[in-house]
Amino acid sequence: MAPATGTLLAEVPASTPARVAEAFERARQAQPAWAALGARARGQALRRLARALRDDPRLTETLVAETGKPRYEAVGMEVFYALELTRYYAGRAGRRALRDEQRRPFLFAIKKARVVRHPHGVVGVIGPWNWPLLNNYADCVAPLMAGNAVLLKPSELTPLTSLRVAELWKDLGLPEGVFQVLPGRGDVGQALCERCDMIFFTGSVKTGRQVGAKCGERMIPVVLELGGKSPMIVLADADLPRAARAAVWSGFANSGQVCIRTERVLVEEVVAERFTALCAAEVKALRQGAGAPAPADQAIDVGAITFPPQMDTAEKQIGDAVARGARVVVGGEGRRAGGGQFFAPTLLAGVSSEMAVAQDETFGPVLPILRVRDAEEALRLVNESPTGLSGSVWTADVARGRALARRMVAGSVCINDVLMNYFVVEAPLGGVRASGLGVRHGPEALRQFCRLETIIEDQPLSGLLSPFIQKQLMFPYRPRTLRLLRWVMRRLY
Ligand code: NAD
Repeated sequence: MAPATGTLLAEVPASTPARVAEAFERARQAQPAWAALGARARGQALRRLARALRDDPRLTETLVAETGKPRYEAVGMEVFYALELTRYYAGRAGRRALRDEQRRPFLFAIKKARVVRHPHGVVGVIGPWNWPLLNNYADCVAPLMAGNAVLLKPSELTPLTSLRVAELWKDLGLPEGVFQVLPGRGDVGQALCERCDMIFFTGSVKTGRQVGAKCGERMIPVVLELGGKSPMIVLADADLPRAARAAVWSGFANSGQVCIRTERVLVEEVVAERFTALCAAEVKALRQGAGAPAPADQAIDVGAITFPPQMDTAEKQIGDAVARGARVVVGGEGRRAGGGQFFAPTLLAGVSSEMAVAQDETFGPVLPILRVRDAEEALRLVNESPTGLSGSVWTADVARGRALARRMVAGSVCINDVLMNYFVVEAPLGGVRASGLGVRHGPEALRQFCRLETIIEDQPLSGLLSPFIQKQLMFPYRPRTLRLLRWVMRRLY
């Protein structure tokens, strides 16, 4: 269904258990040859696919149609991100992260240790609907680069973008079976959890717990990228117009359906009124709608709501906030009449920390502003949260901002910026507490897609002593060796 128009775009049959089993077997068969190609050749294949994504107008139009987002966000965020991530992982940084590592032991200097990274095998990637490319195919880039085959299960709401990527993979003649898309609902995701060697999941905390439990049962590695209630802390010395522009962009981009969006603003009370007025002007200027069809550029800033229940959440949270004394500064009309799933961007002031809109993920176009006495009160409220995904701190004093950022319980924090943590692909990005386990980005994420094997061997020359040392350490035990070990322990430790 097209969220901006309400028209049916396509009917996609869900993958049956037999189809999942067959795809898994094909992936299992295809993976060793993909791994054997080596990192350089895999990187070249992924770069070819990235160029095809960049040049494919159908991909962009599919993204726009199945989400209802502005073309700017489809191209400038999703496609752009997939290219930037591929540039990083398919290049030298990716190859270096996957290389064997030599470790030189201190005590047992006659030995050397080699740390080898092998792909896990078949990785299941389960994606959400808010970013059908960025959180679906793009999350397959690192596991593929690491030499795994990938089975991607896109959200049942937005499968078309992933299916288009699979077509492009095939058209380019990339290895069959290495990347496959399995549309379907939660049961297909569960089937992947039951078969794959590793799961990379992006979605809600609720589903993440089920996925984590299943993977725990099977003792397979899992990465969980879940929801949150990311705060923006605005201190009195901040550049307020800049902070307001960023709050509104990060609050309403993708209609608020962004995991690391600004979910709540905590502003020092001395500047709260001015900051709220600046935000109000920004929100009033937002142009909402379906946008012009291609090839014209869409003259819109805020698109449709992809998943209708997000509008129920937004409505409930606004109602609860107003009933408890919050004030609607802009918006508040809720669902827009006429065709398509549109919800009025809403700015709330006078919000207090016990309101649902300040506590629970909104994941929609509502931005609550809370007044705080000072940075300490803001930090206390932020760190009380059961989740810890992302956040930002706004201040003219960067050192103070950094000190505050370090004390925030979050996977990543921007100082005087928002959402940049998603585009700086060189550094890990993930959630803490109920926001998840593991990360995407950086060498850390790539290495998650590998199992480790350590190989210990003799050093070429000093290893000649190895037979003698083995004789001393192994059966039969000798009192003399124990005396020597005692001496070593006293000296060394
Ligand atoms: P969701 O949890 O409902 O669904 C996510 C995916 O899991 C879908 O493909 C769905 O079909 C599948 N699924 C459902 N039940 C399953 C099960 N039992 N086993 C396996 N898979 C199952 O989430 P959603 O509504 O699609 O996405 C919105 C949520 O995702 C928000 O909470 C948002 O914060 C979060 N999100 C997080 C990030 C991040 O990087 N941290 C990014 C985007 C979205």
